[in-house]
Amino acid sequence: MNSKKFIERKTKILATLGPSSNTIKKIVELSKAGSNAFRLNCSHLNEIELQEYIKKIRRAENILNKPIGILVDLQGPKIRIGNVSKDQNILKKGDIFILDNLKEIGNNKRVYLSNKKIFNSVKKGHLILIDDGNIHLRITSVKNNIIRTKVLQGGVIKSNKGLNLPNSNLKTSALSTSDKKYVKISADLGVDWIALSFVQKPSDIKELKRICNNKISIMAKIEKPTALKYINEICEIADGIMIARGDLGVELPIETVPGWQKTIIRTSRIKGKPVVVSTQMLDSMTSSLTPTRAEVSDVANAVFEGADAIMLSAESASGNYPVEAVKMMHKIAFSTENERNYNTILANQIEETPNTTPDAIATAAKTLANELTSPIIVCYTESGSTGIKVSRVRPSQIILTITPIIKTARKLSIAWGVLCLLQKDEKNLEEMINSTKDTVKKSGLAYSGDKVVITAGLPLKVEGTTNLIRVTTVK
Ligand code: PGA
Ligand code: MN
Repeated sequence: MNSKKFIERKTKILATLGPSSNTIKKIVELSKAGSNAFRLNCSHLNEIELQEYIKKIRRAENILNKPIGILVDLQGPKIRIGNVSKDQNILKKGDIFILDNLKEIGNNKRVYLSNKKIFNSVKKGHLILIDDGNIHLRITSVKNNIIRTKVLQGGVIKSNKGLNLPNSNLKTSALSTSDKKYVKISADLGVDWIALSFVQKPSDIKELKRICNNKISIMAKIEKPTALKYINEICEIADGIMIARGDLGVELPIETVPGWQKTIIRTSRIKGKPVVVSTQMLDSMTSSLTPTRAEVSDVANAVFEGADAIMLSAESASGNYPVEAVKMMHKIAFSTENERNYNTILANQIEETPNTTPDAIATAAKTLANELTSPIIVCYTESGSTGIKVSRVRPSQIILTITPIIKTARKLSIAWGVLCLLQKDEKNLEEMINSTKDTVKKSGLAYSGDKVVITAGLPLKVEGTTNLIRVTTVK
């Protein structure tokens, strides 16, 4: 059973692992500090490293004896520059800078681009933005796989940083050959979530689902203007959504990102798909022990909007204070959830409920729990869908999902307010209810005389069948 601390916070924390957090000991520390799941960013990992990280997280999970989610984040059609020397890496306004096809280490004069399609897609006058839009280049000529540019906004150019082409139309497939290798590793090692970068349309998700044989939950990263056009359809087909504000803020006018964040969270919440807010949430904590007031406000805002999870990127992967960043995120989320306005703000943002039996049962469970001042809603779930349905209505009670399947427990690690307990299937529903009453009492989640609201889908092994609601009293 999770410690009290994790039960108290509803919004989940997803921390990216990297050089600052690549040991089992650090992963354990990050979990204890409040991280519910970990992201592995394939843009910065080779195949061996990916496998090692997955194994380390599973070891940490054993040590802590609690389910931990793993999200493997595929690069998708993201363009990145090659390596850059650490000595000659400052670009100044007005400099000439070249992007070419030579596999040599770059510097402040040139850099390698591996994606050959770019050379045919860009034109004189187009903008090239590097490193989340920190560096701006204007193309002056394109010839023989050499793009000459003029620096409009300088900065330090670092290895492997992302590159955006807001004016160019780049026709690449949703998954690269290397993405497919990472998918295979993820499937073989039983990863819980795969995120796809630069999703443009619903068929991108369909393609990935097919490659995964529908065995891994798919998260669509929203970071392209085209994805916004299809946001309803993408939300419908994906299992989860990530608001990838880094690239979104480069591809779109940055001032429109907060509005889109609200729209995407609402759309995801209406459809009952876990939604993650990511990038730069506590960015200054990569090198400082104290976040800025604006960052604290940003995290709190995502919590008020009812995001399922909030994410750390460089803060936990390559920053100086990964554990402190998780602790800070926990404190901000916990404090925000206890604000007097939290529940009303949360409730006001979900205007519609899908017209399905599972959704109606979830709403009824919340109403019953409120009427009966029940401290807990219990969901028996095989696939996790019952848990996600109840999470969707954002009840103030603890949502205890009980499943015999570790994969389900791990998957639910990013869902809002869901606490997961592994328990073998009992012979029948009555026995399950009896053992649940014992468990919630022993773990201090409910006391004698408390009413417990129970939801489940019968038959138990079939996904999406939430159709049962019961109230029982703890002895
Ligand atoms: P990335 O995705 O870190 O893989 O680029 C997140 C984002 O774009 O915000
Ligand atoms: Mn991105």
